[in-house]
Formats: sequence, structure tokens, C-alpha cells
Amino acid sequence: MTQVLLLLFTLAVMQQRPAVATPPVPILCYHNIRASLEGHRPDYTIDRERFRQHLQSLYDRGYHTITAHQLYQHLTHGTVLPEKPVMITFDDNRLEHFTVAAPILRQFGFTGVFFIMTVTIGKPGYMTAAQIKQLVGDGHTIGVHTWNHPDMRHLTQEQWRVQVDLPRQTLERITGQPAPYFAFPYGAWNEAALLQLKSRGMKLAFQLNGKTSSINALYTIRRLEVAGNWQPARLLQAMRSGQSGS
Ligand SMILES: [Zn+2]
Repeated sequence: MTQVLLLLFTLAVMQQRPAVATPPVPILCYHNIRASLEGHRPDYTIDRERFRQHLQSLYDRGYHTITAHQLYQHLTHGTVLPEKPVMITFDDNRLEHFTVAAPILRQFGFTGVFFIMTVTIGKPGYMTAAQIKQLVGDGHTIGVHTWNHPDMRHLTQEQWRVQVDLPRQTLERITGQPAPYFAFPYGAWNEAALLQLKSRGMKLAFQLNGKTSSINALYTIRRLEVAGNWQPARLLQAMRSGQSGS
């Protein structure tokens, strides 16, 4: 009898999905990239030369960028990732993600994950639909970052449609690719919001440095907010320790 119980227990454990509360992959989050940091807060802005140095140091240490799809396959099916995986994400659809970040990523053979706030598409200082399509053509991933950046903890059903379903459709129409990946504005979430994303067919959702959900861990994946005043050594140290930004 004891052996039967033990066997049942073992089978139950084996059927559990891999734990995702602490992803094995460092996931970096960048916002604005400017010519100079002057007059800008380093927690949201990095200058282009420092950004290049960050990627150079990842390249020199043998890191390989992975896509959101690769992370999903790894977390749900245990597929093997390249050695020293890292994911590099960009929030808000800033124009310099196309004009500055993408060429530097290409220089090192890296790809990025760009979370788009769709209300900004084509506005001054933000990417156009054609630029977003080009990113996907170059091997990058596009994800949903709502229509206009609300706090996702307090939305009506209609707002869920406007902030998630329609932006996702817009991005899928632009790129011709599925867009089942989401990033929370301000990293703010609650369990009700995770269930909404799940029921709408999102596969993964990314936050910032907050606590993770023990029930829906695939929807509270943590990212490291990279501060613009970090030397490359500080970035590497933060990646090793899983430490949060600024
Ligand atoms: Zn944002």
C-alpha cells in the first residue's frame, strides 16, 4: 500500500509543469535609448554607447539571445535552450528601438522582444507599422503592451477588449504573426488580470521586479530593469544575482 501511494505521489510530481517562479533565463528590460543621459532618469533611459557596451559584454561572455517562443517552449515543455541564454526586451514602441537598438542587436547577432503600446504606432517619436513589420522580418519578436498603458488591475470587460484583444489583432495584422506575449504596464498585475490574459489565449506575460504568482507563474515572469547608469560589470552582476534594477 505504501509503495502504491509513493508511486502515485511520484507520478503526481512528475506531471507538474517545470517551476517558473524563477526563470533560469535573465530577461532584461530597456525603455528609452538616447544620445545622452543628461536631463533623464537613468531608471528609464540609457545612452546609446552604454547600451552598445552592455550588448558587447553579453556577446563577449558567450550569451545567446532567445525569443519569447523559445522561453515558452522551455518553460512548458522543457525544450533545451542555447548555452547562456538571455532575453532582451524593450517596452513602449519607442522609435529608437528601431533606429538605434535594432542595428546594434544585429551587429552582435542578437534578437529582441519589443512590447508595443499600439496607440503610439506612427506617432512622432514612435515606430510605424512598417518598422514593426520590419523587426519581425529581421527575426525579432513583437508582443502586446496594451493600447494606451493602463493599470491592468482595474479594467472592465470592454476595456480588456480594447487593451488586449484589439491591440493583439492590430499587431498580428501588421506582422502576419501570432502575438501571444504580453507585458504589464508598470509591471502591475493581480490574479484576476492573469486569468483574463489566460482566457484570452495569451501564453506568457512579463512584469518587472514584483513578486510572482504561485498559481499562474507563466503570467508573472520577472524582468530585470536595466538602469542607464550601470557599467557592463554591474549588469552582469545583476543578471547573476537576479537582482532588480536601479
Ligand atoms: Zn510601458
